[in-house]
This record gives sequence, structure tokens and C-alpha cells, in this order.
Amino acid sequence: MDADFAVIGLGAMGSMTAWQLARAGASVIGFEQYGLGHDRGASAGESRLFRMAYHEGAAYVPLLRRARELWQDLSELSGQRLFHPTGCLSIGRPELPQMRNVLASVDEHGLDHEVLDPEQLAARYPQHLVHDGEIGILDSGGGVLRPEPAVLAACAQAREHGARLLPRTRVTAVRYEDDRVRITAGGTEYTARTVIFTAGPWSEQLLPDLAPHLTVRPLVLTWFAPAGDPADYAEDRFPAFIRDTEGVHLFGVPVLDGMSVKTGFADVFGDLPDAEAYTRDLDERRLRPVGEAVRRFLPGLHPDPLRYAVYMEGYTPDRTAVVDRLPGTDRALVLAGFSGHGFKMAPAFGRIAAELALHGGTDLDLTSMSATRFPAPAA
Ligand SMILES: Cc1cc2nc3c(=O)[nH]c(=O)nc-3n(C[C@H](O)[C@H](O)[C@H](O)COP(=O)(O)OP(=O)(O)OC[C@H]3O[C@@H](n4cnc5c(N)ncnc54)[C@H](O)[C@@H]3O)c2cc1C
Repeated sequence: MDADFAVIGLGAMGSMTAWQLARAGASVIGFEQYGLGHDRGASAGESRLFRMAYHEGAAYVPLLRRARELWQDLSELSGQRLFHPTGCLSIGRPELPQMRNVLASVDEHGLDHEVLDPEQLAARYPQHLVHDGEIGILDSGGGVLRPEPAVLAACAQAREHGARLLPRTRVTAVRYEDDRVRITAGGTEYTARTVIFTAGPWSEQLLPDLAPHLTVRPLVLTWFAPAGDPADYAEDRFPAFIRDTEGVHLFGVPVLDGMSVKTGFADVFGDLPDAEAYTRDLDERRLRPVGEAVRRFLPGLHPDPLRYAVYMEGYTPDRTAVVDRLPGTDRALVLAGFSGHGFKMAPAFGRIAAELALHGGTDLDLTSMSATRFPAPAA
């Protein structure tokens, strides 16, 4: 047997799973089709938002608390600044469901926060053009994560605890036997007791039964230069933000590179047929709505991006991940479909995967992430 546990895909989820398993003393082999920390999947682009007060629902807060502690651990172990505690500012009208979820998160879980009325919001953060009736909720526990160094740090920790990680080694087949799993990767066959699929947007290729419930989306990040002093958008003055105004969903982070504010603009770039259709190229006309949103909401930035980059992510229909045993075998786990908001929780999901793999359970309620929750696809 090559290892007790084989991890397929070493992006955010796979690297954290390998780290947590190896740290617990398990023998681990990990496969990554590209180089470690590569920029073609879901876990690259210089920064990721971390939020405690959660637009997607207060039920995530225990998971986010666990993640926050593990981000702290990984930062200390790696000696790197993986988390920038900028806070995270949610902007929107208070009656929006996502703003209500933020308020429910802070109320139910006693999170540090400030609610800013429209005047306070405009005065404190003049970089944002506030629309009528919009409030700000500053989530003091929020901030910015650095994805590429985080993946590399988790891989380094996994290796330090004895994991064997194989970059540039693509898994092409997985076969289950009574007492083992046979994995073909890079033309060689490996064996393990249990396999953990963390293949991100490529998951549907390896998991055909789950494929009808997974879609692949390109997500585009854009970097805009301030017209004035970039220091006005530095992390001490301009927290990470997430904003919903008139159907536009925009998020961004302060200047980290000395010259630009990164923004992301969700739900305007459609779906890809599958991960093989990924391309780094984009018809620049498709960036127009992003420039328009920047002009309307962040008027101190030049509305033409300095640069953009295309990534991709796996989505489920309810935008909740699948974190579960793979139906039909007791030798496989799956972590997939993080739907544009998984990175911040990656170390917690790595811990959960390790607990499921080693002990068969975890103390967090994973019912909403079950692999069998989806209705059967229409014939
Ligand atoms: C542009 C963008 C912005 C985002 N912003 C945020 C944010 O602000 N906050 C947040 O919390 N989340 C955010 N997300 C979501 C978050 O980044 C993802 O949910 C998370 O990174 C998913 O990680 P993953 O490990 O599932 O996928 P990936 O990182 O893509 O990892 C999958 C890995 O598997 C490898 N692989 C696939 N198939 C094989 C194979 N056959 N053999 C070997 N290796 C294989 C791939 O090469 C890849 O490295 C964002 C996502 C994107 C794309």
C-alpha cells in the first residue's frame, strides 16, 4: 500500500486536507496535475475575502471560527502573513437577505462589529459612493487571505509531517477493490485505503455520479488603479468589502501591491461546459459591466482595469459545497462545489475531511453539505 489516504487535487481543499491528515500522523499521498500553488483553478488571484458575519447564513459561523483558528496556526507555522486583519465591510440596504444574514450572524454569535448608517458610512469610507438607504456593517473579524502562499504553506506542512505530494501528476483512473483503491496517476498505479477527491472545478470528470449537480464557472478578477493616492485604499483605511446594490454584486480588497484595488464581480461571466474549456483569454468587452460598476460605486478608481485574470470554480445548484462520503463506496470522500466562497473555510474543511477519514465523523453538522441531497436529474 502506498499510503492510507490518497488526496486527488492539491488546491485549497486538498492541500489543507493533506496537512491535517499528515499532522494527525496518517500516511498520505497527494496528486496535483499542475505545479503546487498554480493559477488555473479556484485558489489563486493574490487575495481572498475572509468574513465572519456571513451573507450566506449564520449557520456558517462555527465553521468560520474553526477556520480562523487554523489560519492563525498556519500563519505561525509557516512564518508568513497569510491573513490581513482589515475587517470586512458589507454594504447594502438592510432589508436585503444577505444583509439580514450578516446581522443574524453578529447577533446570534456575538461577533465584533459596527453598524454604520448611510451618513457614517459615507463619512468613514468616502471611497465608496453610497446609495440611498444603504448601510455598512463592519465585520471586525474579517480580512484578506493570501491564497497562493497559503496553499504552498499547507503543502509544506503536509510534507514536514511525512506526506508524499506529487505535483504535475494527473490522476486518470480510480478503481475500488474490497480492501483498497487503485489510482492511476502520471502513468503509474498507486494504492491507498481511502481516496479523498478535492479536484475543484475538475471534480465532475472524476465523479460522474455527481456531475449532474456540478457546474463550472469562470470567475474574473480585475485590478483598478486609484486616480489619486493609493494610500487612500490601503488596508488601514479601506477594509475588504462586499456590496450588493441594484442587483450588482461586487467585492474587493485594499491595495496589496502598492498600486491597485482588486475587485471581483460575480454572476456575469456565465458557465463553462467543463473545466477543459478553461481559457485565460477574455473578450475585453465582457469587462464593461465591471468598469461601469466601478464608475458608479468606487468613483475614485480609474474605470479601465490595469489587468484582469480568469480563474474558475465549481458550483452546486444551492451554492453549498458537497463535503461527504462518496455514495456507493466506503473508501472515498468528496469535497467539491464550493460555489465561490470556500477559500476562507479551507483549513476547517481540511480538518473535517481528516476527521471523517480517520474517525468516521465530525462534531460539525454537515447535513446541508450531503452528497445525496440533490433531486435525481430528469431522465
Ligand atoms: C476568482 C475567485 C474569487 C474567489 N473569492 C473568494 C473569496 O473572496 N473568499 C472565499 O472564501 N472564497 C472565494 N472563492 C472561492 C474559493 O477560492 C474556492 O471555493 C476554493 O479555492 C476551492 O478550492 P478547491 O480546492 O475546491 O479547488 P482548486 O483550488 O481548483 O483545487 C483543485 C485542484 O485539483 C487539481 N486536480 C483536478 N483534477 C485533477 C486530477 N485528475 N489529477 C490531479 N490533480 C487534479 C487541480 O489542478 C487543482 O489544483 C473565489 C474563487 C474564485 C475562482
